[in-house]
Amino acid sequence: PLVLGIETSCDETGVALVRGRELLVDTVASSMDEHARYGGIIPEVASRAHLEAMIPTLERTLGTADVDLSEVDAIAVTAGPGLVGPLTIGAAAAKALALALGKPLYGVNHVIGHAAVDELVHGAFPERVMALVVSGGHSSLLLVDDVATAVTELGSTLDDAAGEAFDKVGRLLGLPYPGGPHIDRLAREGDPTAIRFPRGLTARKDQEKHAYDFSFSGLKTAVARWVEARQDAGEEIPVHDVAASFAESVADVLTAKTIAACERHGVSTLVVGGGFSANSQLRDMAATRCAEAGIELRIPPIRYCTDNGAMIAALGSAVVRAGVAPSRLDIGVDSSMPLTVTHV
Ligand code: ATP
Ligand code: MG
Ligand code: FE
Repeated sequence: PLVLGIETSCDETGVALVRGRELLVDTVASSMDEHARYGGIIPEVASRAHLEAMIPTLERTLGTADVDLSEVDAIAVTAGPGLVGPLTIGAAAAKALALALGKPLYGVNHVIGHAAVDELVHGAFPERVMALVVSGGHSSLLLVDDVATAVTELGSTLDDAAGEAFDKVGRLLGLPYPGGPHIDRLAREGDPTAIRFPRGLTARKDQEKHAYDFSFSGLKTAVARWVEARQDAGEEIPVHDVAASFAESVADVLTAKTIAACERHGVSTLVVGGGFSANSQLRDMAATRCAEAGIELRIPPIRYCTDNGAMIAALGSAVVRAGVAPSRLDIGVDSSMPLTVTHV
């Protein structure tokens, strides 16, 4: 079946067409430029941008694929988690299409979509995969037995997401928003062993309760204190080394916990998704450690890691294949949709 996917959980308006596990066209419009000067996403600004971009993005997608709306078999839309206003715009558009076309609607989980999209790139998942979803809003470890129906949340961040931590450290180093890519760039020229920053939730006492959870706010505070102490002493800040040592801590914790989870659950395929998977330090360490552990590492190209419509169409397509009942047309959106709920 031909599935139209609509994504509006944050600042990207994504519309895509997927048939089975084949991606036909994926179109994304972003309002990031409007948010950059505020140093963060303004939900109302994002909502209005989705409202304006929705139909043009849909028309571009259909036009590029040379597909008529009447050929679409099902509509998939992000039902959560995400920002309520932005989610509502996508859900309203999807419902209107489903009603007008008389086609089924499927409200699906954004975070699980970040994993599902890899099926369009690297093919069907084996029986069991581990998914690490890391972005500006999420850092979660999911055990995926069936991407459409059986997902277990092994752990998530207790405070900041990985990308968020990078952005906050970027701000304290005086870098433009979002700071993540800038820290990545600086870190490549620094010494990752220069400063030993803390590894969140890896102490023995935390391991019992939070073996697969993450915490990055203590790390961010440690970086802030380290930088302030040097500033107070009138010393120059070795920004490359600070960036590299900070990035090393984040990559170390993410990869160590993920690989431990793979070994504990007998999983030999790891999918990494979400916009933070662009991070070089994470990519390098994941590649090295997965190779050592005999784990196949699957990371989609970056444009499918950041928010997009293909991820929602991919999960929608899997849900359709699983034969589950479509969503009712009176579904709401859920800003904190549980990560075990694949569709509503
Ligand atoms: P979501 O709704 O999935 O949380 P988001 O818009 O918050 O979406 P993404 O767009 O998926 O997140 O990713 C952006 C985040 O990733 C930002 O926090 C950004 O700083 C961070 N990021 C992007 N590239 C890099 C990089 N190379 N190194 C570190 N952080 C990065
Ligand atoms: Mg984004
Ligand atoms: Fe996302």
